[in-house]
Amino acid sequence: MIMKSILDGRPRLENEVGKIAEVAGYLWQKGWAERNGGNITVNITAFIDDEIKALPAISDIKEIGATLPALKGQYFFCKGTGRRMRDLARWPMENGSVIRVLDDCSSYVIIADNPVLPTSELPSHLMVHARQLERKTEIKATLHTHPIELVAMSHGKKFLEKDVLTRLLWSMIPETKAFCPLGLGVVPYAIPGSNALAEGTLKELEDYDVVLWEKHGVFAKSTDIMDAFDQVDVLSKSAAIYLDCKAMGFEPDGMSDAQMKELSQVFHLPK
Ligand SMILES: [Zn+2]
Repeated sequence: MIMKSILDGRPRLENEVGKIAEVAGYLWQKGWAERNGGNITVNITAFIDDEIKALPAISDIKEIGATLPALKGQYFFCKGTGRRMRDLARWPMENGSVIRVLDDCSSYVIIADNPVLPTSELPSHLMVHARQLERKTEIKATLHTHPIELVAMSHGKKFLEKDVLTRLLWSMIPETKAFCPLGLGVVPYAIPGSNALAEGTLKELEDYDVVLWEKHGVFAKSTDIMDAFDQVDVLSKSAAIYLDCKAMGFEPDGMSDAQMKELSQVFHLPK
C-alpha cells in the first residue's frame, strides 16, 4: 500500500519540511538532541492551499492550554511528543504532524499525515508564534535544543548576569556578532513546561535572537528553521572556542571594545 502524504505534489511544503528534517539531523549529529530532547515548531500557513484547508481532522479536538487569537486558522508543523530528532531527520511525517488552530483560538486538531501528538512544549512555542503574528514579524520557526558548551556555561553564575555571556561570545570570533546581532538572553532555571519558563522566554525574545535556559538549553526564533539553527550554531562555536582556551589553561583575551565597536560600525549592527 502506498501511503499518501500531504507533501505529495506540493514541492514548496515538501521543501519546508525537508529543512526541518535536515536541521533535526544536525541537532542529533551535534550531540544536542539526546533521546527525545529538543523541539521544533514551524508556522507553515504560507504553504497551505484550499485543498489542505478542507482536509478533515485525524484527531480529537485538543486544548492548547492558552487562548491565542493571533493563531486563528494558522497551521504548524510540530515535532511529536516523545519522538527523537534522529528519527524526525529520516521520517519527518512519522515523527511530527501538521496541526490546524481552530476558530476558538484555544484548541487545535491534527490534519496530516499521522495522528502524532505534538510536543508537550506546544503552548510555549505557540505563544512565541502568536507574539510574532501580533508584531507582524517574519519569524516562522522556533527551536529548542541542548547545545553542550552553552548549557555547560549556564552552570556558571557569572555568565548569567545581563549581557555578560553575549559580550563574551561575540568577542571570541567576529562573525558571531554579525550573524547573531541581538545576542543571547538568559532565563533563570524554571521547570520544563512551566509558565515561568514560557513567560521568561517570551520576554527575553523581545530583545534577543536566542535565549539560554539556565542548566537546560536554548530557545531560538527565526525566519526559518535553518536560520534558527545557524544562530545557535554560531553561539555554540564561540562557546567551544572559549572552553578550548580554558582547557589550554588560559583566559582568552577576546576582541577588544574598540574592535567590537568597529565591527558594529562596518557591518551596521544594531548593538
Ligand atoms: Zn529541553
